[in-house]
Amino acid sequence: MKINSEQEMLDFGKNFKIASNIIELIGDVGAGKTTFVRGLAKGLGIDEPITSPSFTISKSYAGKSKNLVHYDFYRLNDPGIMAEDLAENIKNKDNIVVIEWSDTIKDILPKDHTIINIKYNDDNTREVELLS
Ligand code: ADP
Ligand code: MG
Repeated sequence: MKINSEQEMLDFGKNFKIASNIIELIGDVGAGKTTFVRGLAKGLGIDEPITSPSFTISKSYAGKSKNLVHYDFYRLNDPGIMAEDLAENIKNKDNIVVIEWSDTIKDILPKDHTIINIKYNDDNTREVELLS
């Protein structure tokens, strides 16, 4: 699926039909993963601004009926205690857990989770693919 602008990515996130509470986002730096999460947050009724959790690794937001827990494991070679934190949050069915840069914690994710792949095109558009 082609996403032509930042606004379209926000709308895609907002209208995304959540099939699994665990969503893994794959794509290079600047692909639009966090932009997708900003849209998703709107769809969950979260008005707070979503910022990239690169330094804190995770950020939580309370939505209307579900919480959004947003992880970013970028350049984190050893997730340490955050791996346990992630496992705990995955267990809680009230959480929608979204993960950027999941390489080091892949074994924690349930087999049937949603995987979204985002690729740049040269013209600022993005190619979004649902891998699972
Ligand atoms: P990531 O989390 O994947 O590193 P971000 O969502 O933080 O990426 O950043 C994506 C950047 O690209 C934002 O500045 C956004 O405005 C810009 N952008 C431009 N076109 C698009 C598009 N079609 N989809 C998503 N983001 C886009
Ligand atoms: Mg990001």
